[in-house]
Amino acid sequence: MLDLHCHTIATPHHSHWTPNGLIAAAQAAGIGVIGIADHNTTSQVAAFAAAAQAAGLHFIGGVEFDSAFNDKLWHTLVYGANPNDAGILGLCEAVVSRNHADAQRLLEQTHAAGHELPSLGQIAVDRPANLADVAHALVRDGIWPGQTGVDPESAGMAYLLTNQPEAYNPLSVAEIVQVAHAAGGVAMLAHPGREKSVYAIPATAEDLAALAAVGLDGIEVYYPMHSPEQVAFFEQQAALHSFLISAGGDSHGPRDPFSPQPAERCSALLARFGIDVR
Ligand SMILES: [Zn+2]
Ligand SMILES: [Zn+2]
Repeated sequence: MLDLHCHTIATPHHSHWTPNGLIAAAQAAGIGVIGIADHNTTSQVAAFAAAAQAAGLHFIGGVEFDSAFNDKLWHTLVYGANPNDAGILGLCEAVVSRNHADAQRLLEQTHAAGHELPSLGQIAVDRPANLADVAHALVRDGIWPGQTGVDPESAGMAYLLTNQPEAYNPLSVAEIVQVAHAAGGVAMLAHPGREKSVYAIPATAEDLAALAAVGLDGIEVYYPMHSPEQVAFFEQQAALHSFLISAGGDSHGPRDPFSPQPAERCSALLARFGIDVR
């Protein structure tokens, strides 16, 4: 069995897997191939690779980038790249610096329009505010409209993307694909069917065709929030575009279950990294 999408202590306050904790839990769950993919950082890849190797588990190191393509926001997974590759590290740094610059610009515009954001200090505690934090505060402080049944951060980001799309400058999936290939890795669309909020919109056949055309290598077909119909659709799309297939549960720590899948489902991806499960 395998699970290729776990988050680690590289994401402070948010994810809790330590190297030995993750590997022991994976073994207890019958997982023989484990992968990590932290948000916009590869800082824990070497430590988890060493722990997996010591325990006799197969391991694939990854990173999950904030990104955009075709006017939609996506998470893009890069697997198997050298975690210290200058291009990969440059993307990690660019996600953070571009986002903080966008947040700063939006904050300055808000102040210039005569508004204060008293709730921002409660949202971004002991860290610099990112763009989603500022959008969240704009809704919480009543400057932008909220939406019934939608959390204020999602409502704020949806408002921003609809009304001020030029205010957000994320990485393009196409840019990530190029850097991933140069670093010896593959680029996969994470949870293409996840509809987490109004700004996470499931991938259509048109989106996937456009992403295939810029060299995307694959998609995360198996994901806990995907319905059986979505899994069938993404399996068919993977066959159509010769996409590699990945699978993961997006576990953020011991309280989050794995989503183990038969490793054979991802055999082509694993074969890229010398892991033979057939
Ligand atoms: Zn994600
Ligand atoms: Zn994730």
